[in-house]
Amino acid sequence: MNNSANANLFSRLFDRLDDPDRLAIETLDGQRISYGDLIARAGQMANVLASRGVKVGDRVAAQTEKSVAALVLYLAVVRAGAVYLPLNTAYTLNELDYFIGDAEPSLVVCDPAKADGIGAIAAKVGARVETLGADGKGSLTEAAAIAKPEFETVSRGNDDLAAILYTSGTTGRSKGAMLSHDNLASNSLTLVDYWGFTDKDVLIHALPIYHTHGLFVASNVTLFARAAMIFLPKFDPELIIKLMARATVLMGVPTFYTRLLQSPALTKESTAHMRLFVSGSAPLLADTHREWARRTGHAVLERYGMTETNMNTSNPYAGERVPGAVGHALPGVSVRVTDPDTGKELKPEQIGMIEVKGPNVFKGYWRMPEKTKAEFRDDGFFITGDLGKIDDKGYVHILGRGKDLVISGGFNVYPKEIESEIDAMPGVIETAVIVVPHADFGEGVTAVVVCDRKAKVDEATVLKGLEGRLAKFKMPKRVIIVDELPRNAMGKVQKNILRDTYKGIYAK
Ligand code: AMP
Repeated sequence: MNNSANANLFSRLFDRLDDPDRLAIETLDGQRISYGDLIARAGQMANVLASRGVKVGDRVAAQTEKSVAALVLYLAVVRAGAVYLPLNTAYTLNELDYFIGDAEPSLVVCDPAKADGIGAIAAKVGARVETLGADGKGSLTEAAAIAKPEFETVSRGNDDLAAILYTSGTTGRSKGAMLSHDNLASNSLTLVDYWGFTDKDVLIHALPIYHTHGLFVASNVTLFARAAMIFLPKFDPELIIKLMARATVLMGVPTFYTRLLQSPALTKESTAHMRLFVSGSAPLLADTHREWARRTGHAVLERYGMTETNMNTSNPYAGERVPGAVGHALPGVSVRVTDPDTGKELKPEQIGMIEVKGPNVFKGYWRMPEKTKAEFRDDGFFITGDLGKIDDKGYVHILGRGKDLVISGGFNVYPKEIESEIDAMPGVIETAVIVVPHADFGEGVTAVVVCDRKAKVDEATVLKGLEGRLAKFKMPKRVIIVDELPRNAMGKVQKNILRDTYKGIYAK
């Protein structure tokens, strides 16, 4: 918690700046932006926002490709006391109609090519539209270029909103998670300390900036540490391996690591300059963790967070990083596992619902007081929806989303347990276990498996391999072999797509 006069995240980031010439961001096209430049650009942009009528507390929605200007927009919105609302660049007009209608921003920023379509949607809520393209050009940056850089950062309290991030909404409509200035600042400062960030660090920033991972964890942590980031428009494994020679940290989703492992250029030598590899947003397979350690000599540091809570747990920087576990609760964060039905706290090793509490946890869902109430316990713990356990050593393990829990004949079946068994079989790369409606059993455990093309793995071999290892009620009713699992941009397996694809397989 911050008690200084201005709790605005921007003030906490930049009010005390010792060395304005220090490098903050560099790009592939040769831009080198110092901390002083970044603050000046945010000031110019904040002046433009104010001139376009953006007031304190207004939402500014942005569907923009990743660029330095897009990051400056985020900083400027926060600085102006408004609420930043990033939108996934993949969203269609139909989806944007919902988000813009729900959030009622006063300004929408989008790619020039989409200005007409988005303009019609924005008009319905009386929002203005400004443009910002992937090349950093557009009406917004044109205006900012001639605006003055001085801007008095708007005073905000700890609990005032800095951002709204919509959840991915795989179980119904997306919800807007309201994040305060202190939610963001406190979590980033904790991570700077926990992960040993200093001004000597150089982060390879290859994540999108519409999501908590790339926007808050990667960017805010770097900026708080006065470190530098190499800002990449997208994930490019060969380029990233080259950049490792002069960088120190990579933050990625698990797919980054599996793809990097496919390159012969990934070696102990090519990663020798790096001090830290962080993974999160989706489970990192224990195999990937081990293979990475074998090839590079580095143990990937896996952490666990979500849009609503920022980061909750992390494997230790100095201690043992356990493959397949997401580590301990971060300092100041409380994590517990409860019985999903009674809410009673469970003992170590018992599986249940993961709940968290701390300065990192959001303020609620935008305009959904009932939903918010339903997701919090009376003592302030947020019910994450993730199933898991805390082991004897205090490491948290995630065993899947609550909605993926299979109740077969009254017994709980945790997909992760079955997935781990199948993943351990020779020739299997990865598995997703889903629930599919079953004419006789109500729900049928179904395994969708990706195999090494050279290995001759089929349904019968998988089922045979599971015999005697899993109780009968946990055995998959069907095993489907596929080339790859559907994933979103954050590397999460889209089980909703699998459920939809295979929904008819047990129909009578
Ligand atoms: P999002 O809000 O998009 O960041 O998604 C948050 C969800 O991603 C969490 O509730 C978890 O289900 C999942 N998640 C994040 N980090 C991890 C991790 N390290 N291992 C397993 N699942 C994770």
